[in-house]
Amino acid sequence: MIVTRQVTKTFLNGKEPFHALHQLNIEIKKGEFVAIMGPSGAGKSTLLQLIGGLDLPTEGEVLIDDIAMHQLSEKERTLFRRRNVGFVFQDYQLISTLTVEENVALPLEADNVSRLEIKTRVLKLLTLMGLENKAQELPNVLSGGQQQRVAIARALAANPRFLLADEPTGNLDRKRGTEILQLLTKLHKEERHTIIMVTHDILAAGYADRIIMIKDGTVQSDTTREEGDTDA
Ligand code: ADP
Ligand code: ADP
Repeated sequence: MIVTRQVTKTFLNGKEPFHALHQLNIEIKKGEFVAIMGPSGAGKSTLLQLIGGLDLPTEGEVLIDDIAMHQLSEKERTLFRRRNVGFVFQDYQLISTLTVEENVALPLEADNVSRLEIKTRVLKLLTLMGLENKAQELPNVLSGGQQQRVAIARALAANPRFLLADEPTGNLDRKRGTEILQLLTKLHKEERHTIIMVTHDILAAGYADRIIMIKDGTVQSDTTREEGDTDA
């Protein structure tokens, strides 16, 4: 479970302190598929960074399975993040000089995992993503949708507690974007992954079973899809 308690994130842009987030409270349970929406500048990316332990709140606390992020040392937080959080970005952020297989293996390299285990795990993930025949390709020869699927495979490699996706369909056309959203839905439904996705796109958000609207750094609405609803 992810909990933010009265989380405020303040940036000092030279002049006035600016609250990108202000006393924000949310709770996300294991197994949820949540979309975070809101206008540009609302604080969505800042929230995702705090939830993922990339940054710390100025006030309040972020708890992941009862572990308070601010109580970890910088080093412990880095380790915690690497083991527990999978990140997916709008622009894929694959390493262009490494093959698909090597990109997906990256999160496993630093741990004491054997070559064979890495190979097996990577192939399993690539198969899940429908990319088993692309393992030896460089990312640049793949379509955007395929690159994003590689990025999702990489995010899942270390078997994280949850997946954070920042505008995962932002660079894709509707068809490719829909494929990614269907894939996330499958990971959620069949593999029981917890997914938190920031998106501008109401159609994308409709795939989630809960939509949290953020505005001016606070929660404006928080809507969970009722059992049996077909749209959000
Ligand atoms: P969103 O993702 O909803 O577009 P962000 O979380 O990126 O919003 O940003 C929220 C607000 O905080 C924006 O006004 C942005 O300019 C500001 N902000 C975000 N990160 C920083 C930073 N590192 N330094 C200063 N201001 C920032
Ligand atoms: P998005 O709108 O896609 O969420 P942004 O372009 O707002 O992304 O932010 C990208 C990165 O830049 C984030 O890590 C954010 O923290 C940082 N950032 C955003 N606004 C500012 C700012 N005014 N000053 C410094 N860093 C910022």
